[in-house]
Amino acid sequence: MTFIFKYFDIKPYIRKFTRSKFANKVFGFVKANRVLVKISCYALVGLCALIISFVSVGITVGFKVNYSGKVIATVSDASVFDSAKDIAVKNISGTNADKALEKPVFIMTLTVADKLCSADTLADAIIENTNDISQGTALVVNGEIKICTQGEGLSDMLEARLTQYYVDGAENTSSFTDKVELVDGYYLNEDLKNVFDAQTIIDDLDVKTVSTTVTENTVTYSVKKIKTSSYETGYHKIYKEGQNGVTRTTVVSETVNGTQSCENKVSKETISEPSEQVEIIGTAAPKVSATERAEASSEGFIFPLNRGTYQITSYYGDGRNHKGIDLGANTGTAIFAVSDGTVTYAGYDGDYGYNVVVDHGNGIQTRYAHASALCVSKGDKVSQGDMIAAVGNTGWSTGSHLHFEVIVNGVRVNPAPYIGL
Ligand SMILES: [Zn+2]
Repeated sequence: MTFIFKYFDIKPYIRKFTRSKFANKVFGFVKANRVLVKISCYALVGLCALIISFVSVGITVGFKVNYSGKVIATVSDASVFDSAKDIAVKNISGTNADKALEKPVFIMTLTVADKLCSADTLADAIIENTNDISQGTALVVNGEIKICTQGEGLSDMLEARLTQYYVDGAENTSSFTDKVELVDGYYLNEDLKNVFDAQTIIDDLDVKTVSTTVTENTVTYSVKKIKTSSYETGYHKIYKEGQNGVTRTTVVSETVNGTQSCENKVSKETISEPSEQVEIIGTAAPKVSATERAEASSEGFIFPLNRGTYQITSYYGDGRNHKGIDLGANTGTAIFAVSDGTVTYAGYDGDYGYNVVVDHGNGIQTRYAHASALCVSKGDKVSQGDMIAAVGNTGWSTGSHLHFEVIVNGVRVNPAPYIGL
């Protein structure tokens, strides 16, 4: 400025203005209305101070929004409400959403700029304070709203539908064949239905269920019998015990609404292989010949067990009206037919357990009871000295032994004389 004043002297201009007619009028007015001018000056200064202080603390003019009988926000102008209304309508499901909204009343007010409400916040307040709108859940199938309800019921009903076709004892998974969603949101009260109204819609949804069933099966071991002349006939020993194997079968079935929709997928795997049982069976001729044994008996019967393999534990008629003779021997010891004949019984029979009856003709039969194994079947012809069974402990027996009977014309007689005792 000082630079300018060096070239342009302002003083002549001021002198010219103070001498002008306009200046005379102004000064005249001020002299005539001195008090009024003074008051106006003070008022002007005061107003400026007020505006400066309002601006400095951020006070501004705004509008209270009275909505549904309640002040819900303060906005800078009415257009904020219009924007908020558009947002609210977008967030409400239903075609009549804008009709549900009420008309606001605006009341001018002074407010702090920070307190002015944004359109987004006001939209939430509008939704919260609109009587005809409530929170709810919609069942949406392939993008289309099927029903809107309040409360948690829909999710439980969908879960029940999904598990409806589960197979007991299987591992199950299921899904809807359509895209089914539950969408929480704001809905018009007139669109909200009772949750039970959704049942028929849910029952119509197609459910695909995949069930996997796993079963384990036992594979029985095989028995290998090794016959050897190293041991006498009647020798029978388990050399190696067999172990059953296990297989696992997995069946995957697929159904739609409980009806099979494709062929079952079956897969089998071996968990453990069975291991063979090995048994040793003696084939060597008895040390005492059949002829030798036959010589000892009155009827030409040989003894049913090899000498030295037994001990008499009970005679005929002993205590309990015993109708045979008991010969204690190890399980597996060979039992021989005492004479030629035909097998009339070979099987399991109550107290006798496994037993064989041989008919020798002339009304004479012999019975061999409590056996562990049978070597003959009904109808077989046997010769004297044939192994027909093995000593055991089956039926009413308290220890491994042969119960031997001689039956003459249907009467069980004392067998002792028949076998040389
Ligand atoms: Zn007996």
